[in-house]
Amino acid sequence: MKINRRTFMQGAGATAILSSLSGLTPGIANARTTGAHSNLLAKRNGEVVYHSCLRNCAARCLLKFRVQDGRMTYVSGAEEQAKTGKAPCLKGQAYVQYTYAPDRILHPMERVGAKGEGKWRRISWDEAYKKISDRLKSVITEHGSESILPYSYSGNYGAIGMSASGERFWNRIGSSILERKVCTYAAYDGLESVYGTFLGPDPEDVMLSDVYLNWGHDETVSNTIAIKLINKARDNGTKFLVVNPQRTPLCNQADVYLQPKPSTDVQLCAGIMKYLVEKDLVNHKFIQEQSIGYDDLLKRLDELSYDEIEQITGVPRAKMFEFAQILGENEKTMLRMGYGFQRNFNGARMSRAVAMLLGVTGNFGKRGNGLVYDNIHAGAGLNQSIASGKYMRKNKDAQRINMTEIAKAIHPTNPTSHDKPSKPIHAMIIYNGNPVVVAPDTNAVIEGMKREDLFVVGHDMVMTDSLQYCDIILPSASQFETDDIVGDYHGYYIQVCQKVIEPVGESKCNWTFFRELGQAMGFEDDVFKASNDDIIKELLDTDSPDYKGVTYERLMKEKFIKLDIPQPVLADGKYNTPSGKIEFSSKLMSDAGYHPVLDWQLPEEEMEPKERNLPFRLLSSGVPQRVNSSFYNVKYIRAIPAYYVKINPVDAKTYDVKDNDVVKLSNHRGEARFVVIVTEGVLPGSLMTPKCNWLRMNPNGTEGCTNSLTTDKLTDMGGCSAYHSTRVDLAKA
Ligand code: SF4
Repeated sequence: MKINRRTFMQGAGATAILSSLSGLTPGIANARTTGAHSNLLAKRNGEVVYHSCLRNCAARCLLKFRVQDGRMTYVSGAEEQAKTGKAPCLKGQAYVQYTYAPDRILHPMERVGAKGEGKWRRISWDEAYKKISDRLKSVITEHGSESILPYSYSGNYGAIGMSASGERFWNRIGSSILERKVCTYAAYDGLESVYGTFLGPDPEDVMLSDVYLNWGHDETVSNTIAIKLINKARDNGTKFLVVNPQRTPLCNQADVYLQPKPSTDVQLCAGIMKYLVEKDLVNHKFIQEQSIGYDDLLKRLDELSYDEIEQITGVPRAKMFEFAQILGENEKTMLRMGYGFQRNFNGARMSRAVAMLLGVTGNFGKRGNGLVYDNIHAGAGLNQSIASGKYMRKNKDAQRINMTEIAKAIHPTNPTSHDKPSKPIHAMIIYNGNPVVVAPDTNAVIEGMKREDLFVVGHDMVMTDSLQYCDIILPSASQFETDDIVGDYHGYYIQVCQKVIEPVGESKCNWTFFRELGQAMGFEDDVFKASNDDIIKELLDTDSPDYKGVTYERLMKEKFIKLDIPQPVLADGKYNTPSGKIEFSSKLMSDAGYHPVLDWQLPEEEMEPKERNLPFRLLSSGVPQRVNSSFYNVKYIRAIPAYYVKINPVDAKTYDVKDNDVVKLSNHRGEARFVVIVTEGVLPGSLMTPKCNWLRMNPNGTEGCTNSLTTDKLTDMGGCSAYHSTRVDLAKA
C-alpha cells in the first residue's frame, strides 16, 4: 500500500488524538474502540457527508467527509463542485485533526484562581447556565442591558453559527451592538465612492479576461483554489499583473510585478493613470458617457510628477509604464482586490484610487471586466433579518462598539467608543473569536479583560489566549457537529454544512448554547425553540431575486447552488452613486474631509511622533497554514513556523541581524520577540510578521505577539481596523 502525505497525516493524527482523548472523558474513551480504522485506506470508506469550510476564507470549499461508526475519518474536496475540486488547502485537510484535537475543551469550567492564572473547576451545563443567567440579569438590573457586550466574528462563518444564533439572543436582551467591522469596510466606502457598489462580477469569468490584475491579494494564503482559475486563464493567454508590497509566491509568476512601499497605492495609481492619459490609452467613449469629474482627475494628475511618484512609491517608472501599457492596450481586465491593504489609515482612499483605474480604461459592464472584492451576494440575499430576530430589539439606538476598539470599550477607568465616553461594559460573551490576539493592542485588551467587575464567558473549542481571562468557559462544538448553510464571498454559491458527527464531549454548537441560555433567562419566545433546520428554512425564505429557484429541498439535495445573478454586472451603465455615473470626483469624499479626486495623505502623517519616528513599518499578514487565529490546536500546523519577522537584507545589515536570530520589536503599546528571516520579500523600511499569532505559544517569549504592537485607530472611512498603519523599533533580543 502506498501511503501519501495526506493519508499519513490523517492516520497518524487521528490515532494520536484518540489516544490523547481517551483519558479525558468516558464518552470519548469509548470512541477508541469504535473509531478510526487501523487500515488507512479503509478510512476513506463509510458514509459521505457534505460540509462547507466555514473559515474566513474566500474559497469556501465544499468538503466531503467520511464517517464510520459515528466518527469522522477522512476529508477531501467535493469534486462535484468544480471550483473546489478534490483537494482543499492544508487547513481543510487538517479537519480530522482539528476536530479531534487533544486540547479540545470537553466540559464547562469555572474560574477558581485569579483572571489569567489558569485555575478551573469542572461544572455542569445546568450550573453554567444558572450562573451566567443570574449574572446577566443582575447586570441588566444594576447597569442596563447595554452593559452587556457580545464579542464574536469569523471563527465560524455559517449563517447560523456566525449570525442568527447569537444575534437572536443579543437582540432579545438589547445588548450593546458590536460593529463587526474589523475586515472589509474601508474599501466598501472607497469603491462605492467611484462606482456605487462593492459587489462584483463572477470571478469565473476571468477566463474571458485579457488581463487578471491582482492588487494586494495573496491567493496562496486565502482562496488557494482560485489559483486553478488563474492558471487556466493564463493558459488561455490572459496576462497576469500583480501589485503587492510583499513579494508573495504569486508575484514571481506575474508578467509584471510592482512592489510599492506600503500604503502608497494612491500615488502609484496616479502614476499609472498619468501614463494611460499621456499615451491616450484611456477609453474616451466610456468616460464621456458613464462618468463625471474626468477633467478634475486630469488636473489632479498634473500635480504629481513621475519623480515624486517614484520617490514616494519606490516603484521604478519603467516597471510602472510596462504595467500601465498592458492594462491600457488590452480590452478586458478583471481586477481582484485584496482585503489587507485597505486596513490602513488611508484604506478607503487607496481602494478608491484602485477602482478609478478601471474607470479610465472603461473596464466595467462587460463579461471578463470588473473588480472582484467582497462578493457577498449569497450571504446578503439570505433572510438574515428574520433569522437573527432583529424585530425583537427594543433599543434600536443601543450604543455601538466597534470591535477594533474593544480595548477602549472595556477600559478599566475611561471606557470610550468612537472617541466619545461610553457606558461601561460589565458582562461580555466571547464566541467565534479570540480578542486578546485578534484585536489590536493586545496588552490593552488584557488589561480590560482582567477587570474583576467584568464578567466574561468564553465559548470555544480550545483554550485560547482570550479564554484564559474568562470567568466561565464553555465547550464549543466544531462546525462539523451541527447543521448550517453558508454563502460564498468570492463566487456566487450557497452551500450546505450538514452535520458530520455528534458534538464531541459535552460541547454544544452556538445555537444550542444561545437557545438554552435564552431559556435559562426565561425567554418564552418561539424563536428560542427553533431547531437549526427551522432557521435554515427561514434564511432561505427570502425575497432576494438572486435566490430565484433556490429552495431548502433543492439545496439539501444538490449541496451547492450557484445563484443565477445576471451577467455582466453594471451592464446598463447606471451606477449607485449620487450622480448615477462613475465619479472621478466625489462629494462623498470631500464630505468626509478628503480630496474629492485623489488624496495624497500617507498613514505616517496621522501617527503620533513617538510612533511616526520609529524606523520600520510593520505589516502583519496572513500565512497559508492558518486563518486568523484558527488552527493553533493542530499539531502539525503548529510545527510550521509562525513567530518570525521578515526583514530586507539592507536593513538586516544595518541592524547586524541574520537568519534565525531572535529580535525584539517594540513600540509604546508593547513588545514581542520573533525569529529573523532575511528576504527581499519585504522592502527596506518594512517588516512582516504573521497576523493573529497566539501569545502563549510564542516560543521566543510569551510576553508578546504580533497584535501587542498594532494600532486600534480606525480607518479613514468605514470604521475598519488599520493594523498595517503601525510602526515599530527593532533590536537584537
Ligand atoms: S481554508 Fe479556504 S482554501 Fe482551505 S479548505 Fe477552507 S475554504 Fe478551502
